[in-house]
Amino acid sequence: ALSDRLSTVFDRLSGRGVLSDKDIDEALREVRVALLEADVALPVVREFIAKAKERATGEAVIRAVKPADQVVKITYDGLVEMLGGDKEPEALNLSLNPPTIIMMAGLQGSGKTTTAGKLALRLQKERKKVLLASLDTRRPAAMEQLATLATQAGVESLPIVAGQAAPDIAKRAMTAAKLQGYDVLILDTAGRTTLDEAMMSEAAEIARIANPHETLLVADSLTGQDAVRTAKAFHERLPLTGLVLTRADGDGRGGAALSMRAVTGLPIKFLGVSEKIDGLDAFDAHRVAGRILGQGDVVALVEKAAQDIDAAKAEAMAKKLAKGQFDLEMMSEQLGQMKRMGGMEGLMGLLPGVQKVKKQISEAGISDKMLDRQQAIISSMTKAERKKPDILQASRKRRIAAGAGVEVAEVNRLLKQHRQMADAFKMMSRDGGKGFAQMARM
Ligand code: GDP
Ligand code: MG
Repeated sequence: ALSDRLSTVFDRLSGRGVLSDKDIDEALREVRVALLEADVALPVVREFIAKAKERATGEAVIRAVKPADQVVKITYDGLVEMLGGDKEPEALNLSLNPPTIIMMAGLQGSGKTTTAGKLALRLQKERKKVLLASLDTRRPAAMEQLATLATQAGVESLPIVAGQAAPDIAKRAMTAAKLQGYDVLILDTAGRTTLDEAMMSEAAEIARIANPHETLLVADSLTGQDAVRTAKAFHERLPLTGLVLTRADGDGRGGAALSMRAVTGLPIKFLGVSEKIDGLDAFDAHRVAGRILGQGDVVALVEKAAQDIDAAKAEAMAKKLAKGQFDLEMMSEQLGQMKRMGGMEGLMGLLPGVQKVKKQISEAGISDKMLDRQQAIISSMTKAERKKPDILQASRKRRIAAGAGVEVAEVNRLLKQHRQMADAFKMMSRDGGKGFAQMARM
């Protein structure tokens, strides 16, 4: 597993303060191998590694946490983010003005027809009136296959009329859905075994006629590297709104999901997890990220690492604060935490009973959009300057302002805020340190 590999790289690391560039490069080489083994496409791997390197650089080694776990955590967080994070829309985009039209697209055998049936069942359970229509005139049994699935899902399917071309079936289905008051019309299309122009132009023609609210690209998780080519080709020709990855049940690796998400930027809406009609799961970035890292327990490990990291940082912070220390390094750390916690608003909402500090911080004019610039200013300082802001005379301030791309006045504002925060913390320390021990934990 990845964490074992990384452990070897990091065994000799203990005791040093910061992950060096060389350590990070070595660790990321292992991450790279893990991603390639998970069948993530090479350009996507490259992009990912570059981002992870940026994140890992400068990350302090925390004594309570093994550096290997820390890199696994950084990698995991990066994967989750690249997969759409926690905010990935899992639901279908249903029109306020029914019928909602959903078009299924993809290569033959990718699972379009099966997924159409699964979606119909899901919608039927939500009490939607669903019509399934097969536009697959190529495979002889395709229309009957969809009609059978419709029966299983407890929904209607469009009556089969022999000899009709796909665009005409689409028109007939739309008329029927409108006249008979359906909430959702799902158009199942024909695919070919390989990408070709005839299939693409037919699909594009259907999309033009039907103007679907959702055009879902259905792709087989097991296609690995090919997934990228397929996704690109369909994305160029169709107004895709989302991805469905089938056969996730047979895919221990999850690489196709990451590749397709990265290449198209489209949300992954569902995962097909069995051949059965109820075998459709909402997409979960955390689950797929865990798979890509190649270990079942990675989520637990990552949560543990995150807790350890936070606890260790919080403890160190609380100790320093209790001693009346609050340097710019700590301020930068705080600014970073604020960003991670959803900005000033989110943070203030979490602080009960410290009205005074809240007021002071907001009077000091700290706003979300300033956090980045403030961190940039602090990172333009030397270590000594961060520890002892008193030494900052005019020439140093000019150098720092230039380094951060801001005016000297903004450096002064930051220093003033820092003094105000330090004062506020000093005041809080008079209650025996309980206040900010609580705050630092958050
Ligand atoms: P289409 O040509 O794109 O319409 O593909 P089909 O829907 O006909 O599916 C092709 C085969 O894949 C069928 O045997 C399905 O049962 C199977 N299949 C589809 N989705 C899944 C899935 O999520 N998991 C598994 N194990 N099999 C699936
Ligand atoms: Mg089919």
